[in-house]
Amino acid sequence: MASLLTNLKQLSNANGVSGDEHAVRQIVIDLIKDHVDELRVDTIGNILAVKRARGTAKLRVMLDAHLDEIGFMIFGANGDGSLKFRAVGGIDDRILPGKAVLVGPDRIPGVIGVKPIHLLHGETGVVKIEDLAIDIGAASESEANSAVTVGQTATFATEFRTWNGAASGKALDDRAGCAVLIELLRGPRLPVDILAAFTVQEEVGLRGAQVAAHAFDPDAAVAIDATPANDLPPTIEQDVSPNTRLGHGPAIYVMTRRDLSDPRLVKHFVATGDAERIPYQIRQPGGGGTNAGGIIPARSGVPTISVSVPTRYLHSPASLIYLKDVRSTVALVRESAARLTPQMLQRK
Ligand SMILES: [Zn+2]
Repeated sequence: MASLLTNLKQLSNANGVSGDEHAVRQIVIDLIKDHVDELRVDTIGNILAVKRARGTAKLRVMLDAHLDEIGFMIFGANGDGSLKFRAVGGIDDRILPGKAVLVGPDRIPGVIGVKPIHLLHGETGVVKIEDLAIDIGAASESEANSAVTVGQTATFATEFRTWNGAASGKALDDRAGCAVLIELLRGPRLPVDILAAFTVQEEVGLRGAQVAAHAFDPDAAVAIDATPANDLPPTIEQDVSPNTRLGHGPAIYVMTRRDLSDPRLVKHFVATGDAERIPYQIRQPGGGGTNAGGIIPARSGVPTISVSVPTRYLHSPASLIYLKDVRSTVALVRESAARLTPQMLQRK
């Protein structure tokens, strides 16, 4: 368990905005390289690793987790030395003002500028990202330009913390999934070949997963991600029943706006959870999708299921998970993959 937590901390604190996943990729490679039979980085930056089966492989099962996180891209410097920036991936403008960020490969500290309350004259409402700027303390445009270049990325500066079985961090979507997949690769061989894909550019359109699924051409796939848990006290959102809840185990998807989990895999994962007494929950259908949407149509089609760690405050500076849900996700994916047979995937 210590290593799962240590890995999660290291992964969450690393910066890896979509398209700029280098630092996270290095951490993952170091953690898995002695535990897999094949390892390569493909042309767009996915890590593709194979852990062969114990004995003759019954199936080739792809397990996916995305390396990238939501964040920002620097668009240029303003005359006053502040930085213009835009979002990479889905970020709500409401949460931006006053947040600490880290800019560029050197992790230069910055703050998303906001007018202090003392100077406000009754202005309210959401300030659009176009009207915000990142302040790195530079005194002039040229000073800003010498520190940061256009196209560099920035992330929230939140440090990973853990207390009382909970953990919070800036990039648990999807470093929680990465930690699960690393744990599976560092564990014992299974009766199936594990084709592990740590994929890039999920947050901007599931791009890495499409390439990885094409390369692996697997018999079945599991997208391991973090999913929103809208389980706040009922006084806050009385009319919405929680889509997932913290502490109730991995969330098995049946349908999102973008993809359908293969019903045979849903049945199998549910049966495995019941048989092995691993907690799980069915995610309420609807809402945003996962890399499953990129994997399902690959090649001649891949039966795919999404399994996610329930996560509060997704795509914000600090999301929050329960560590026991991460452990249950490892167990459910491992046991379900181990028990998967070609017969289960045969069309009758
Ligand atoms: Zn995600």
